[in-house]
Amino acid sequence: MTAPGPSVRTTCPYCGVGCGVLATPDGRGGAAIAGDPDHPANRGRLCVKGAALGETLSMQGRLLAPRIGGAEATWDAALDLIAERFSRTIAAHGPDAVALYVSGQLLTEDYYVANKLMKGFIGSANIDTNSRLCMASSVAGHRRAFGTDTVPGQYDDLEQADLVVLVGTNLAWCHPVLYQRLMAARAARGTKIVVIDPRRTATCEGADLHLAIAPGADAHLFNLLLCRLFDTGGFSAAFLPKLTGADAALTAARAARAEATGLDPADLERFLALWAGTEKVVTLWSQGINQSDSGTDKVNAILNCHLATGRIGRPGMGPFSVTGQPNAMGGREVGGLANMLACHLEIENPVHRAAVQGFWASPTMAERPGLKSVEMFRAVEAGRIRALWILHTNPAVSMPEADRVARAIAACDFAVVSDVWPDTDTARRAHVLLPAAAWGEKDGTVTNSERVISRQRAFLAPPGQARPDWWQLAQVARRMGFAGFDWDGPAAIFAEHAALSGVAGALGSDFDISGLAGADYDGLSPVTWPQGKVRRRRFFADGQFHTPDGRGRMVPVVARLPAPVPEAQPFRLNTGRIRDQWHTMTRTGLSPRLAQHLGEPYLELHPRDAAALGLAPAALACVESPQGRAILRVLVSDRVRPGHPFAPMHWTGETGPTGRTNALVPALTDPVSGQPASKSAAVAIRPLAAA
Ligand code: SF4
Repeated sequence: MTAPGPSVRTTCPYCGVGCGVLATPDGRGGAAIAGDPDHPANRGRLCVKGAALGETLSMQGRLLAPRIGGAEATWDAALDLIAERFSRTIAAHGPDAVALYVSGQLLTEDYYVANKLMKGFIGSANIDTNSRLCMASSVAGHRRAFGTDTVPGQYDDLEQADLVVLVGTNLAWCHPVLYQRLMAARAARGTKIVVIDPRRTATCEGADLHLAIAPGADAHLFNLLLCRLFDTGGFSAAFLPKLTGADAALTAARAARAEATGLDPADLERFLALWAGTEKVVTLWSQGINQSDSGTDKVNAILNCHLATGRIGRPGMGPFSVTGQPNAMGGREVGGLANMLACHLEIENPVHRAAVQGFWASPTMAERPGLKSVEMFRAVEAGRIRALWILHTNPAVSMPEADRVARAIAACDFAVVSDVWPDTDTARRAHVLLPAAAWGEKDGTVTNSERVISRQRAFLAPPGQARPDWWQLAQVARRMGFAGFDWDGPAAIFAEHAALSGVAGALGSDFDISGLAGADYDGLSPVTWPQGKVRRRRFFADGQFHTPDGRGRMVPVVARLPAPVPEAQPFRLNTGRIRDQWHTMTRTGLSPRLAQHLGEPYLELHPRDAAALGLAPAALACVESPQGRAILRVLVSDRVRPGHPFAPMHWTGETGPTGRTNALVPALTDPVSGQPASKSAAVAIRPLAAA
């Protein structure tokens, strides 16, 4: 319990917009929540999820002490056991026999410690994150085009643009404050808005043009745009010398087919003319592009159009990938993905590895990328990974082939889960449970989609024996005999991370925040990186990229469509998020107010499909794929296309009617990014009674 206190400036723990929050403790374990008027992301706004944060501070069902085999244990016993089992597994089977699966919910300091432990001391890169499910294709696309994973734009570009193209994103529901800012700009200056989405989502209500594109045809559309730009003299003569690959990209783009987009020719023409004829264009995307088995190519098809026209990094123009999670970006910065090192350095580069190893004074260093999330759980299933530590995420619900992942965790020799609640589908299968400090109880930093680093600050005491994740990881590292894990708090970890970024900056990395190494951590105001020798808000307008020759790369993209659905599963299921829930509902599910919007798992089905299947509104449908089964309430709606139903991914439930949508999704991934294609599962649907 904390005494009533003054307002504390912190950051919302939900989406990648990264809104500033003022939390005022009430002295009874709760807090009043308001938007921070001084935070650059939201300027006082909050969406309904952020505004309901005060309703999710309940202690009900919290994990308050470590558990071993279901029985309460001391921290010493749990930490000793983890260190002993990890050390023994490594000694017997090598470093790749252990893994960490982490989360965009971790603070940057937690992420830093996890990455340092795994890559620099255990000597394996088997650390991956649930951000793999969210933006890995954008990371890969950025690296192919820019040489680094750099987001070039800022949120205020949306307010300075004359045209904003929203592709594969339901911004109104999934990044609501950004959508509010866009709508305000539209009202003030008449910004044109185009939404490209097979579904007619809430975002379309504010659009001038909705292109209900054929699912998966985005690369066809942007390749057609690239051709139009070239054919009408839209390539920038000034910018082209700063690029490579323009001819090859154009040649590949010539194979794009207008009919593949499924669009009305007049609508298609309107879009092409609008984009080609408007200089200040922002193209913004999220999961609809990323969660595809050709997601990286789709990202590069978009980037090609901005690069060829030089519409990048200047006010009001540029490509903009927005992240789903509050600290997906921070995870990218510390190298918390299996194929990255630290501070945007490359794991395959021996000079980069040596620099990081020297800085850490570490005994070993991972020399090759580790297993990405889908591969990681396959390795758990096959017994190649024998000790697994999952932090702040619920892969038994959120991963594709969720049932298979749940079985793999249950069968793992040794599974550890650090979380706030003990009864998630994942936590129930762990041998050791570690009670983690929750939002409002822990201190650290997060980075939002526009590269702004903000503090998350504690305003409540952690209950019971709950401890922050960085402490848990550092304690295990020390018990495994490793030096360099003796920080006294997150400020010291942040200072070390900032100092390492200076080493990276000297090697040419874009991520350099060494200027913050001695900053007043407690008082740190939101700040945009880089903050090293270079301090800038936008990248690439000068045509300087982070490739070996300094030139940006246009990548040839051969547009392709998803494989046809088989006869036995004739529907292509699209999955996604709804306005008032977050991930697997472990936090938002605590708010009765948020449950009022859409209170149970559902299947949005076109009227023609519903009639053909004999499914009335509100009937229960059995949805099956070769991977699993879900029971969903039917919502008949012409917002979806015939043959392409939609289901949200939040719900769980292991018995009875279940909304385990990801149990239906096959573990098909993009070959470059490893991101799963979560939006095109082939399924069969029938009335529940006939199942
Ligand atoms: Fe939180 Fe995102 Fe809503 Fe902002 S827009 S309040 S970060 S959920």
